[in-house]
This record gives sequence, C-alpha cells and structure tokens, in this order.
Amino acid sequence: MVRFKPDRQTIFPGAAIGVLGGGQLGRMIALAAAPLGYRTHVFAPEADPPAGQVTPQVTRADYLDRAALEAFARSVAVVTFEFENVPVAAAEIIAAAGTPVRPSPRALAVAQDRVQEKRLAESVGLATAPWRAVGSADELAAALAAIGAPAILKTVRLGYDGKGQARIARAGEAAAAWQAIGAAPAVLEGFVDFACEISVIVARSLDGAETWYGPVENRHRNGILDATIAPARVSALVADAAVDAARRLARALDIVGLLAVELFVTRDERVLVNEIAPRPHNSGHYTIDACGTSQFAQLVRAICGLPLGDTRLIAPAVMRNLIGAEVSAWTDVIGQADAHVHLYGKADARAGRKMGHVTWVGADSRRALAE
Ligand code: AMP
Repeated sequence: MVRFKPDRQTIFPGAAIGVLGGGQLGRMIALAAAPLGYRTHVFAPEADPPAGQVTPQVTRADYLDRAALEAFARSVAVVTFEFENVPVAAAEIIAAAGTPVRPSPRALAVAQDRVQEKRLAESVGLATAPWRAVGSADELAAALAAIGAPAILKTVRLGYDGKGQARIARAGEAAAAWQAIGAAPAVLEGFVDFACEISVIVARSLDGAETWYGPVENRHRNGILDATIAPARVSALVADAAVDAARRLARALDIVGLLAVELFVTRDERVLVNEIAPRPHNSGHYTIDACGTSQFAQLVRAICGLPLGDTRLIAPAVMRNLIGAEVSAWTDVIGQADAHVHLYGKADARAGRKMGHVTWVGADSRRALAE
C-alpha cells in the first residue's frame, strides 16, 4: 500500500467534472463521480438527457455554441466526453479556454475517422481487416477487385451501432452499397470470418500508469451489442495479444482516461483491430457489478489525477443490453438474486435504442446467454 500524494495536477473531490454528451454513458459517469465527492456538469443539446436526471448541473446547448462551451469550461475543473460524435471543435474550444479535455481532442478526432483509426493501428504494428479508402463508385469497384467479396463498406465518419454500413456479398452489389451509405467517403473492409469478437478497455492516468479490463467477448445482433461475456473464452495467447494491442493504441494516443478497443479473433488465433473509442464502452458495463473498480469510476480517477483502482474481475459475468421494447423484460429479471438491472431513464423505447442493461454475476451467469 502506497499512500497517495496529491500534486499540482490533482483535481480534488468537490470539483466539478464536465461531460460532453448526455446519454447513458454520461449518466453512469455522473453516478460514479458522486461517491468520490465530485459533482458533474452535463453539456448536451437534447431536452431530457438521461445524464441530466442524475445531476442538477446541465447546460442545454448546441455542441458548436461557443459562448455556452466557454461558460461550461469555466464552471468545471476538467472535461471528458461520453459521445463519440461530439464535434472535435467543441473539445478544442474548451481546451483553448484553459480547461483540460481528457482524453484529448486529438484522440477524439482519430476515433471519429475510420481511416485515421486504421492508420494508427498499422503505425504501432497492429493488424486490421484488409481495407481501402474509397471516395467514389469507381474507387469502390477498384477496391472490391483488390480485396474481394464478401466485404463491408463503412462510412469514414459518423457510423455507430452498425449504422453507415452496407455488406457486399458479390461484386454486383457494389453500386447499391455505395448508394446505401449515402455515397459518402468510406472504407471498404474485407469480411472477417471471425471466431469471436472481443474488447479490452485500457485506463491511463496523467502519469502514464495503466490498468485494463478484459478481454471480454461480445455478441452482436443487427449490428448492436447484445451480450458481453466476461472473461472472454479465448486462449492466454489471444488475451495477451489483445491487451498488448489496446495498450499500444492507448499509448500512441497518449490517452488520459479510457480507451476501448474492439478486436476480431480469427480462427487461426490472430487478433485484428476493428474500432477504438476513447470513452467508457458498452462492453465495459459489466465492470460496475463485477470488478473492483468500474470503468466509470476509473475514468473519474484517471482524469482527476487519482491513483487508478483495482480492475480485477471478482466473478464471471454476463451483460445483456435491453434494446428498444426488450426493456419490458426487466420485470422478468429484477427478482433474480444474481441479476443487476440498470435502466437509463429513457421515456421512448424506440427500436434500436439502448434502454438499459442487466449484468448477471457469478458462476451461474452464463445461463443468461440462453435466449
Ligand atoms: P463496427 O461498427 O465497425 O464495430 O461494426 C459493427 C459490427 O459489424 C461488428 O461488431 C461486427 O460484428 C460486424 N463487422 C464489422 N466489420 C466487419 C468485418 N470486416 N468483418 C466481419 N464482420 C464485421
């Protein structure tokens, strides 16, 4: 046990943490900040953001409203973001006003751009699916000839939860795929016949100390995360390679905060980087109920200059998302002793909307994968 010695950079409990974005991730950041004595100030454009229900400090303004961003920056000690598509300009305005933004605006910019993301992975010696940048229907045809079908076309920017993506089973489908994604700058990726999908979340503090969660295994349905299984059912070799990949990326981006890294595991046990997100991640929700320190508490510690907490998985766990109308299933599970129900306070259970999640913890948790 080493006694923590605060220094000039330490942000003390009592200060306010600014969060750009008002969704469930912001809500869970605010809920994790409170036990450490921090207040949270949420900046979001929507009328009733889920994060706004758990803190009285909410600025409702557009992400490009300079005056609102500057006032927000003055009201907090540090700013983080919970929403990947927050304009980089918003983070830059806050940083220019003298309030640290953690992770940095640069990390946000790289994560918003699939081409930059892949170049970053390659620059630190990591493999990705075969890919080509595509700016026109002709370039798509050439890229498809080079990579071969099946393939996936993804917009460079503003894609999430399977949006902005089109699958191409045969060369003849290229033109339709190009229209389907709105003829926007894109990357064409070779389709990976993966054994499984996994993710690792790295936490990095101001002094470069690192901890990590995972790898965990992720199952998707309709392009949206359905289930996370902790720990992932992979070999030690694969687990080590995944953690090593995530740490290399976090260092390359000089992350202060969290970096989530999604990877494909191939049938011959190679690990390919798919996507990165410099924020808490849906595949880390299990950490609230199953780890010594949750990903949200760890983010707060990292950006405030506190020592990082213990990330150990206390018991195996399964997390299931409640998407759209599935949220009504909370009544089926709330009475189960090993189920931890989290609802995000969203009124409208639209199709595809993340309404809540349930984490089962303990030896019996795998039963939650049955349906
Ligand atoms: P993404 O938005 O890039 O994370 O893609 C959403 C989901 O689509 C992934 O989690 C995978 O299940 C699937 N997917 C994306 N890219 C590929 C690929 N190159 N090969 C196979 N499946 C993919």
